[in-house]
Amino acid sequence: MYRLIDHKQNILRPKGDQSFHTVWALSGKAGKRVATVFEDLNTVILKLVTLLMNIAPYGVFFLMAKLFTTIELNLIVSLAKYFGVVVLALLLHAFVNYTLLLKILTGLNPLTFLAKMKHTCLFAFSTSSSSATMPITLETATKKLGANNSVASFTIPLGATINMDGTAIMQGVATVFIAQVFSVDLTISDYLMVILTATLASVGTAGVPGVGLIMLAMVLNQVGLPVEGIAIIIGVDRLLDMTRTAVNVTGDCMVTCVVAKSEGELDESIFNDPNAAKDLEDYHKSID
Ligand code: ASP
Repeated sequence: MYRLIDHKQNILRPKGDQSFHTVWALSGKAGKRVATVFEDLNTVILKLVTLLMNIAPYGVFFLMAKLFTTIELNLIVSLAKYFGVVVLALLLHAFVNYTLLLKILTGLNPLTFLAKMKHTCLFAFSTSSSSATMPITLETATKKLGANNSVASFTIPLGATINMDGTAIMQGVATVFIAQVFSVDLTISDYLMVILTATLASVGTAGVPGVGLIMLAMVLNQVGLPVEGIAIIIGVDRLLDMTRTAVNVTGDCMVTCVVAKSEGELDESIFNDPNAAKDLEDYHKSID
């Protein structure tokens, strides 16, 4: 009856994880067939994403090359500063805010957490999509960080849909940058409005590449800035998108650990095991 779980799928489901069996066992052969279709679909989509990931660096290179041949030198310097500020803010958020929150709220070791996020962050960085990374994020949360599936299967999809801290950071910095380019002075109430609308816009941002930039139009409108300002930063946005997506998925996993711990659904032996789910990484490498 359980023969459906072949060698490849066994890697994804370590011994003792019977949840998949239970689902299709209840509906017999029909359930078995449907489950296999979704499993195969998952493998095919992962393969497609991997193919795209392999050509993405060339696309980014040509995008940047085109931009730098068409703009003036002083704008390049300003763009470089904008880029640096966004990256710095994102790194501070990931390495300081997230790790402090994790330590304070759960007492778990932030270094262990960051080490286990490496693979997921790389995947998010290459795809620029929280949604495409979701299967990997979910596996990391359950099999590497030790969160129970009942918690992770709720928090990870929710996070991939509405938790976009990295996007909100980019939108805040971009609004201030565009205001400076157009020589517009922002007042304190404008800044408060930017914080509010950037938070709301990031919640409304879909977890796919580039949407954060489209939602930026909403923030610019709120403070009376021209949406044409987006054209200035669009060329460097791909690289920022890659970075902020990695921050977004790290946030999803951090919150999952906090919720799982508070609910007593975090297996700390898995969290503290440096070799947890190593076979999962081997499996992902095998389909690369
Ligand atoms: N690419 C981001 C994500 O998927 C969203 C964005 O900021 O454009 O998390």
